[in-house]
Amino acid sequence: MLATDGSKDVHESADFVIVGSGAAGATCARWLSAAGRSVLVIEEGGPARAARGEGYEASTRLYRNGTSAMTWGRDAMHILQGRCVGGSTVVAGAVMEMMPHDVWQEWVQTDPRWEQRLPWDDLMRAHERMDAELAVEKTPRELWGEGGAGLLRGLMGQATPTWRAAPGCQGSGRCFQGCPHGGKSSVDVTLLPRAEKEGARVIPWCRVERVEIADGVAVAVHGRFSAGGKLVARAKVAIILAASAPGTVALLHRSGVKNVGQGFQVHPAVAVAGLFPRPMSAGPEATHAMESFAFRDQGLKLESVRLPTSSLAQRVPGVGRQLDQRMQQLPFIGSWNVLLRAEARGRVRRGLLGSWIQYAPTDEDRRKLLKGIAILSEAMLLDEALEVWPGVHGAPETITRPKQAQDIAAMAPQAGAVPLWSAHLFCGVPVDDQFQACGIGKLVVADSSLFPSNLGVAPAATIMAVATLISDRWGAA
Ligand SMILES: Cc1cc2nc3c(=O)[nH]c(=O)nc-3n(C[C@H](O)[C@H](O)[C@H](O)COP(=O)(O)OP(=O)(O)OC[C@H]3O[C@@H](n4cnc5c(N)ncnc54)[C@H](O)[C@@H]3O)c2cc1C
Ligand code: SF4
Repeated sequence: MLATDGSKDVHESADFVIVGSGAAGATCARWLSAAGRSVLVIEEGGPARAARGEGYEASTRLYRNGTSAMTWGRDAMHILQGRCVGGSTVVAGAVMEMMPHDVWQEWVQTDPRWEQRLPWDDLMRAHERMDAELAVEKTPRELWGEGGAGLLRGLMGQATPTWRAAPGCQGSGRCFQGCPHGGKSSVDVTLLPRAEKEGARVIPWCRVERVEIADGVAVAVHGRFSAGGKLVARAKVAIILAASAPGTVALLHRSGVKNVGQGFQVHPAVAVAGLFPRPMSAGPEATHAMESFAFRDQGLKLESVRLPTSSLAQRVPGVGRQLDQRMQQLPFIGSWNVLLRAEARGRVRRGLLGSWIQYAPTDEDRRKLLKGIAILSEAMLLDEALEVWPGVHGAPETITRPKQAQDIAAMAPQAGAVPLWSAHLFCGVPVDDQFQACGIGKLVVADSSLFPSNLGVAPAATIMAVATLISDRWGAA
């Protein structure tokens, strides 16, 4: 890391100046430095350190806006993002899923130039390279835990162990707070140190405020350290934007670039919780041990999730004595997620106080989410849950019979009926064949803001594969 306390002004230059040190930025730093290029990575957050305690410490130190960012719309949705060296990979579940071929085909059908930009075979080779780099493997049987094994039973075998970049996982289920055991291959402990060994420099605690663009070409970034000093970093070859989909749009807004932020997409997610007759957190369990794509034709992904106690407690309904009693049963409570490849498109907008996200699922999206909740509720009952808490406004708070679960799928879609969150964010920046934003010279985009659509699978692996191809091309330029 660059030795500065950030209180004084700093002037730097490098072949490549990368904004953001998460999945996309760290991948670019890794491969560009390996190609012998000088690299500077600028990161708004500080060095990542796993939270010692529970949720509050992690949310304030590792997350953007302390996990409280919301979309604007009738279905207000939590947006979760990391803000630290390593970006969201530090708090991610380490799930690594390859880009689906049918999604790639959709991109090519919508705009044939994607076939040259991201040739399928090159993309697959990049996936393999990243899988090897991060030691991606299938969750072993001993880390399925009650949640993973239960999802497999509840879905009658229609689930498979999750592929994860967590070779040292001990099944503590605390990925969302940073791994206390260094068990997962988040980029702060893999790609970034390897890039630094090749000479890359990482500057933490510095927010890039704008990109300087002269005669249609990006020349420098201007940032401010949290300690007050200013940074000007000039790029000899290119500036790479890897600040996350909404982060890159926001930075372009601040840099005076128009026509960005449209078409923003997410995978909205909902958690279903249930009370079981057996302890759900007795043994080790990977944060996401098991997943199901059995309903992928409807855009649904189902997954087991082991949550830290403080997060699990938030999913327990009730008040007064009933809540008290349920809280005493926390070790017997399990939670599974449904994620949707939503069709809705929102917008990252520019406001007086900064950028904000306008987003609302369509009625079809809401219908599919209800279906996913119904499937998971029924699966929990099949796996002997004593009661299930679907968390749907208008449905019973507690359900105990499969028919009640099925009724949820038949409910009329309603805005705001389920508490949504999303950590998978896409689209908003049009790029040219060199991945330059809005045709601006030497202003390369490497994160999922360049994707034409969402994926329907966990995005980090595809983001890294795409960033690998972009680095290979620009590194050779
Ligand atoms: C809780 C959680 C769990 C997740 N689990 C998974 C999972 O298991 N599998 C999966 O595939 N995906 C998962 N994701 C999503 C995945 O982590 C992200 O899709 C991916 O990391 C996005 O990569 P990125 O480089 O675009 O952005 P990020 O990884 O978010 O990195 C962007 C970085 O840029 C920095 N930044 C932003 N603006 C500026 C600025 N102006 N100046 C300087 N720095 C800036 C940010 O602070 C941040 O560190 C999860 C995300 C979260 C939040
Ligand atoms: S489940 Fe626990 S041990 Fe495994 S990677 Fe996540 S935080 Fe680390």
